[in-house]
Amino acid sequence: MHKLILWDVDGTLLYSGGVAGEAMRAAMTRVYGRTSTEARHSYAGKTDRQIILETFADLGHDALLESLDRFTEAYITELSNRREEFLARCRVLPGVTAALERMAQAGAIQSVLTGNLQPIAQIKLNLMQLTGWLDLAVGAYGSDHHRRAELVPFAVARAAQRYGHTFTSHDVVVIGDTPNDIDCGRAAGAYTIAIATGPFSIDDLRAHTPDAALPDLADTDALFTAIRQAG
Ligand SMILES: [Mg+2]
Repeated sequence: MHKLILWDVDGTLLYSGGVAGEAMRAAMTRVYGRTSTEARHSYAGKTDRQIILETFADLGHDALLESLDRFTEAYITELSNRREEFLARCRVLPGVTAALERMAQAGAIQSVLTGNLQPIAQIKLNLMQLTGWLDLAVGAYGSDHHRRAELVPFAVARAAQRYGHTFTSHDVVVIGDTPNDIDCGRAAGAYTIAIATGPFSIDDLRAHTPDAALPDLADTDALFTAIRQAG
């Protein structure tokens, strides 16, 4: 299977139990002196950079771009300080490890496509012990671009360089839990699979016409069948 499977992180591989959101808001307070009052739903599928640019738009785009490194450092610190809480409250979603194992056995290259800043994704996946199946070096992250729809080409270019194989759009599978994930995969011509383990119901997701939609990842066979239909 010459597939490049790009997994979303939050709501797809894991649910962080609100701990990552708390860390992000604490980092906002540190760097910008205030925090966002937005609900979890409105963050869903957005990149971390996009959340900062939208939440503090009044500070001006250039000033915000200059602040991003400081914000990233603060976010890493705040999340690292919550390690025990994260381990206690975060959970890997049903069927995830079996799905990752099955796709690895089928020979797929697996990584992440996430709105998380790269170091934040790495911390979460390390703590949940999911990195064994994922080649994070070929992932695409919220640190690469503030618009999620721009992210697939970053992963495809990294995978081509690392594996010496050009993954065409037919070889790329984007799996995520929000309409933004579907739009992002579609923008690159990838095969899109929506999983209803985040804030959106399967009907909400189907309205955005992904190539496949599943209630969760518990049925490994259903996922495998969907992925085989890609390309
Ligand atoms: Mg998500």
